[in-house]
This record gives sequence, C-alpha cells and structure tokens, in this order.
Amino acid sequence: MKKHSCIKMPTIVEGLSPLMQQYISLKKEAGSMLLFFRMGDFYEMFYEDAEKGSLLLNINLTKRGFINGIPIPMAGIPANSLEQYLKKLIEQGESVAICEQITDFSNSKTNLVERKIVRIITPGTITEESLLSSKSDSAMVAIDPYQYNKQKIGISYLNLANGDFKVMECQSLQELKSELHRLSPTEIIIPEEYNLTSTQDFSATYTKVPKWHFDYENALKHLLTHFEILSLDSFGISTNSSYIGAAGAILRYAYKAQSIYALSHIRTIQVEHSKQFVFLDPFTRRNLEITQTIYGEKSPTLFSHLDRCNTSMGSRLLKKWLHNPLTNDKEIKLRQDAINSLLSINKKDKLENNNIIQTIRNLLKEIPDLERITSRIALKSIRPKELIYVKNTIKIIPQINSLLIIIKKSEKITNIKEKLLIDTSIYDLINESINPEPAYSIKEGNVIADGFDHELDTLRSISKNENTYLQELETKEKIKTGITNLRLSFSRIHGFYIEITKGQIEKAPSHYKRIQTLKNVERFTIPELKTWEDKILSAKEKALSREKYLYEQIIQKLNNYITNLIECAKAIAEFDVLSALAEHAFVYEWTCPTISNENEIIIKSGRHPIVEAHIETFVPNDCFLSNEQKMLIITGPNMGGKSTYMRQIALISLLAKVGSFVPAYEAKIGTIDRIFTRIGASDDISGGKSTFMVEMTEASIILSSSNKNSLVLIDEIGRGTSTNEGISLAWGIADYLLNYNKSLTIFATHYFELTKIPHIHKQATNVHMSAIETEDDLIFLHELKNGPANQSYGIQVAKKAGLPIEVIQKSIEKLNSIKEPTIENDIQPISNAHNYELEQYEKLKKVILNINVDETTPLESLNKLKSIQKIIINNQ
Ligand code: ATP
Repeated sequence: MKKHSCIKMPTIVEGLSPLMQQYISLKKEAGSMLLFFRMGDFYEMFYEDAEKGSLLLNINLTKRGFINGIPIPMAGIPANSLEQYLKKLIEQGESVAICEQITDFSNSKTNLVERKIVRIITPGTITEESLLSSKSDSAMVAIDPYQYNKQKIGISYLNLANGDFKVMECQSLQELKSELHRLSPTEIIIPEEYNLTSTQDFSATYTKVPKWHFDYENALKHLLTHFEILSLDSFGISTNSSYIGAAGAILRYAYKAQSIYALSHIRTIQVEHSKQFVFLDPFTRRNLEITQTIYGEKSPTLFSHLDRCNTSMGSRLLKKWLHNPLTNDKEIKLRQDAINSLLSINKKDKLENNNIIQTIRNLLKEIPDLERITSRIALKSIRPKELIYVKNTIKIIPQINSLLIIIKKSEKITNIKEKLLIDTSIYDLINESINPEPAYSIKEGNVIADGFDHELDTLRSISKNENTYLQELETKEKIKTGITNLRLSFSRIHGFYIEITKGQIEKAPSHYKRIQTLKNVERFTIPELKTWEDKILSAKEKALSREKYLYEQIIQKLNNYITNLIECAKAIAEFDVLSALAEHAFVYEWTCPTISNENEIIIKSGRHPIVEAHIETFVPNDCFLSNEQKMLIITGPNMGGKSTYMRQIALISLLAKVGSFVPAYEAKIGTIDRIFTRIGASDDISGGKSTFMVEMTEASIILSSSNKNSLVLIDEIGRGTSTNEGISLAWGIADYLLNYNKSLTIFATHYFELTKIPHIHKQATNVHMSAIETEDDLIFLHELKNGPANQSYGIQVAKKAGLPIEVIQKSIEKLNSIKEPTIENDIQPISNAHNYELEQYEKLKKVILNINVDETTPLESLNKLKSIQKIIINNQ
C-alpha cells in the first residue's frame, strides 16, 4: 500500500476560503469518522481523511489549492458510486459521515451552498441492503465496565437491521469475552475513558462515546422516552439492573446514527442470562469451526454444511442457533418435535410421491428478507421495489399457512402457523398505492400508482399532454409563418424552443425572440411557449414532490403493521431453519437425540457431521461418558482419527443442545452446560504469547471454569516443551480434571505414560484408534477400541506423507538406538501395551488349560467356548 505524508487540517479558520471553513466545521462534527463532503457530482475528502481514504479505497490522492503555500490533500469518489465505496470502508471497520448540499446553488445568496451531515454509517448501525451481508448480522454491543466495581459488567446488544434489543450482565472479564464471541458484534460502544486492554483482542470497530451516555439517570430517561413507558418492569428489568447504562448508551448512539428517524421497530428489550446457553469459550467456538474454519474461512463449517435455508432470514437464525446452544430442555424438545413432525410428513410424502415439505420450502425461496425490509419501513428508508416484495409475500404466506395444516401435533409448528397470519390491509394499501413496477427511488417519480391520488393524476396529465400541445403549437406556427420546416424542441439549458433553418430565417416574425445561433439554425422562444414550459416544469416538480409526500404517508401507515410483519418474518425464519434441519437429518440419516437429566453422553455409532459428508466411508464410533466413566484417554496412530472423534462428540452434544438431530445411530445427551476444547494451538504473537503459552492459557481457563456438567476435550497437551515436562503437565491436568473438576473428559495423547491413569483412577478408561500394520503399509481402521494403543506409528505416517526414504531409514535407526531415559517414557507404553495383551493371553490360557477335555460333554464344551468368546469380546 502507498504511504502518504500527513498534512494536518488547520485548526484556525481565519483566512481560509468559506468552503474550507465550512468543511472544517463539519469535520469537527464528524470527529474520527471519515467525512464525505458533497461537491456537485462528487464526495470529496480533505487532509487526513483524503490520505486515509485514498489508501483504504485505492483512489487517487490529489490536491485542491494551497493554504499558506501548503497543499490541501484531496481525494474524491463519484456520488453515483457511493454505496460501493461505503461497502469497502465498512468492511474495513470504518465509519463515514455523509454531508450533502441541502440548498440549491442557484438559490444561495452567498456563493456557498448550505451543507449538512445527513447520514452516519458505522459497521454496527448499517441497515441498507447494499451494505449488509445477507447471511450475517451487523449489530453492536455497548459495554458498561463501570458496573464492574460492583462485580458486574453491563452489556447491551442492538441489531438495527431487525430491531433485536437485548441486555445481559457478566460477572468477569472472561465471561465478557465469551459473550462478545457469542453475540459477535461488528461494533463495540465503550465509554471514552475505558481502558480497552480487556477486550481489544476481539475484532470489531471500537467506538468511544462520552462517559455520561452511560450514566444511569440519563440512560433510564432515554429508554423510558423511547418505549413511552414509566418503568422498565414490563421487560423484567429492575431499577438497579447493571445493564441500564449500556442499554441507554446504545439506544442514544443508534438514534444519532439514524439521524431524525424514530426507531419504531425496536419494541422490546429482552433480558438474557448466560445460564440460558451452553457456555462455549472463544477457543471452543473457533476449534469447533461453527461458522468459521480455524483459518478464518466461511466453509467448510458446521453452519455452511447445515445451511439449507431458503431465506436469508433463516440462514441468519440458524447461525444464531448454532452459536447459542440451549440449556433449557423445554425449548430443545419443542424444536425436536417440530423436526420430527416435518420428517414424518416427509417420509409419508415420499411414499405418496407428494412432497409437501418441498412445496413449502420452494415457496420460501420466493420470500424476500422481510425482517430487514420491515426495519427499513420503520427507518423510512424502504425502497419502492421492496414494497412490491412485501405485497408478493402477503400472497405467498396464506399458501404456506394452508399447507402447514397438514403438519400436526407439534406445538412449535402450530405457533409458527398462528404467527403466519398477515393483515391483508397491508396488501390492499400497497396494491392501491404503488405502481407494480416502480422506479428504484422515489426521487425518480413513477412510484405512486395512477388513480391513487387525484392531485397527482392531474399534475401527471399536464405532463402527459406535453407532446400533443407541442405538436399542435408547431402546426399552428408553421401555418402562421409559412415556414414548413419549423420545429419545436427542448434542451436542458434553454428549455422549449422554436428552431428555424438559416434559409428560412427571413420569414421569422418579429415577436420571435432569438435565444441561440448555431451553424445552420437559429433558435427562438415566444411568450406562449415560455408560459407552457413553466406550467409543464412546475407540474413535473409538483408531481415529484406530491409523490414523495404520498410515499411518506404510505410508509407512515405501514408503520402500524410493523409488529405483525416482524412476527411474521420471525415465524418464516424459524420454519425455514426447522425444515432445513429436517431435510438435513433426512438426507444424512441423522437421529433425534434423547435429552436426559443425567450427567452423561452416550452415543452409539456417532459420526462427524462435516467429515462424513466429505469422505466415502466414515467409520462410526461409540462414546460412553458418565459419572462412572468420566474420562476417556484416547491413544492411537497419527492420522488415526483421534481429533475427528473428539470433535464429533462435541459437535453431536452441541447439535443436540441446539434442538437439531444428530449424526448417530442413537444418542443420549445429559446435563452438559459447558463445552471446552483444547485442540491444536498456534502462536498469539500480537498478544505476546508463544504456542506453549497459548496452550497453557487455554488449559488454565479449562481448569478454572469447567465443572461436573462440562464436556472437556483435550488434544495432545504439553507438546511444546520437553517430553518429560510435557508428560508431567498432561498427567497433572488429567489428574486435576478427574479429582477436582469432575468433568466429562476426552483426553487424546501420544504420551503412552498417561495410559496408566486408569490404573489409579477408576473413572478413567483407555481407548484407542485402531490401525493395522502390514509389511509395507499402515492401514487406519478409524475404529475406536478399548484399551491403549501400542504405538503412534509416527514414522510410518511420515513415510506416507512422502518424507525422503533416507530420512525414514535414519529415523528408524535412531528410534531403535534411543535409549535415553526421557524417551523411554514414550516407548515404554508399547511394552505396557504388550503387557496388557500378555495379561489377556494369560487369562485365556488359564481358562483353556483348566478344561478337562476328557470329561466334558459336547454341550459343556460349547458353553466353555462361549465364555472364552465373552472374555475376548470384553477385552477388545
Ligand atoms: P494426529 O494424531 O496426527 O493429530 P488424529 O488421530 O487426530 O491424528 P485425525 O486428524 O482425527 O487424526 O484424522 C485424520 C483423518 O482421518 C481425517 O482427516 C479423516 O479424513 C480420517 N478419519 C478420521 N476419523 C475417521 C472415521 N471415523 N472414519 C473415516 N475416516 C476418518
């Protein structure tokens, strides 16, 4: 990227041109935001904004004159490409203040037109269709850290694009970080003096506002005024709640960004408690690749895989569900019931070859983003075309509703059906008032339907008669003057004129007033033409302003239906998600998990939801974790499938808590309310942490935060230090989890020393991923078996990876020659594993040798054989 030297904007305005004085005063108003200063057909930026803007937008940096010999840096964008440049800036986390010319240059008494900031665009307050991502929310969060002194941090969340307004409180900074990752805001509002260090590693735009915006009294007043109520009791918010400051501050900020408009779509505040959701710390959200891969990509993730939604509202809701697994069994079971009822119809349909669900899902494809459109009605920024979308939606909804009658017995579907009742007056209003094919913007006219308003119709008929009148006048003047090629026409500069060729000019009557001379023709005007022109132009202008007025009235009327439209949009989104989950369950043969009240995870033939879709044959595996068997120590070859197995247990648990079906033959998920994963780590150089430090920080968080209702997954901890220290740390952590946290844990390791833990702790069990070593190959079976593995096969896997044969040979030589005590710890378990097999062998030998063959009947021998089989099966 180019670098520019920074020329600072002058602070003293005396001696500057009126235009620059005006700019400086507006720039002060815009503060740290970039100011787009309208000048004719361009938005210009000056000084620091010009330099920053030219870098961010990759546009030319020029200059606009000098002040005291110092150039004024300038960069500009064409006004008609505004949205595209705004999008670029918003994606880079910038905020922009848009300043427009609000008086006409010709009306201005001075040489300077009046200008005003009319719109503020920030990453968390955007509501424009062109700036928003259809599948993600752009929302903001306000943090009131001063409540922390009272042991609490107040948080508020506001999504202007759909009116969601929530509040919650956190007991610690760790909880705050977790909440930020759960809510995933694009902008964070904080008080001016707040030291950012506690949350700055969360990537969002940080906006500082005066501390007094968070003052209790101020904030409360603002909230009460907005909702037009006397107390917040009806929202379940008591007067001493810690989030009132944050809620007031965020609402004030939203008002400022939306300028004059009322935020009528924000109708309620929802109080959220962190205990409502399964706690996922930021590392776990990242490790489980819920909506982003570890490398920051959008796919393949759990969301990208499950997103069969046919509306963008549905996709956004699905994302929300996946990031907010529930602890409330009731809601989980309602979702499961709904999916079950959709699936039962689906199966029945398949037999009858009449797919109702598919018909509804196809209808969903025709539904626009009703949620965001409704918000734009409230914000008065709705486009005419979007009203037509609303009208069409109102036609589709009864069709969906009538098909839903067939799906019975589910409370949720019944609920959705009840909300899918849309007031037909909305249809009538739009149908009568809006042209079925309106212009893009009301400014262009041709939006209000003919016949809707008498005054508009009259004004339009004047304009429409324009051609007939001109033709009549032209004929009249031709006859009067005898000039057969006389022509009547219009130009933007001169308005209507009479054109006569030079050859006929002699015949021009004296009352013809010459206005323009061209090479071959002369142009004239006459009083009658001028009067007509004034009438036409003023009729056009009046029609446009009448249309604008009528449009505002229509939007105002639609404002009364906001609650109905929002409820309807939410119901559509919910049905979309449920039917998408049902379809996915049907296609991949997922099953409905049992939600139990025990502390357990019991999975039969579980699969990884994403990996199973990408490989030909996925080997299903079981999992049994309970109060009696709290820890699985999992060993096995590199590439054996340990990480996949661990992730699949976490994802199945998470999906179950979302209310979805799961990739398993059978699953029973108990009282899990926290999931922690430590799977793979990388440096956090910017945070000043090495790989090992990151690993230990994550482990420390797990040990301090997990409890008996937690699922903990630890993959190869302690690798970033010496072998002995690594083993010791891993051992210490496993021991602590078993003794103190008592969490349900899966511990994957290549440190075979750890397979001794089950000898000491009854609640720990060894399992391993099986593989078969042939003479020249290693075949991964990906099958989970009881007992520890006998080796890691690291060198064989390295050989498969294509390491030079010389390296492999040298490595084998070295492995065989290593006798040092530290490494012995690694290889000792191989003999341990052999010991284990020897033990089994001894057991069997004893049983077989104890059989007195001479005195055994055929039936007894068959029974003996059965008991031998049992020993083998139990010890597999
Ligand atoms: P390492 O110890 O080297 O980290 P690992 O034991 O954790 O390896 P994974 O990364 O889980 O191994 O799995 C390696 C590959 O094996 C996966 O990318 C996947 O393609 C395949 N795999 C894993 N589990 C299964 C399974 N159950 N069925 C089929 N293929 C599987």
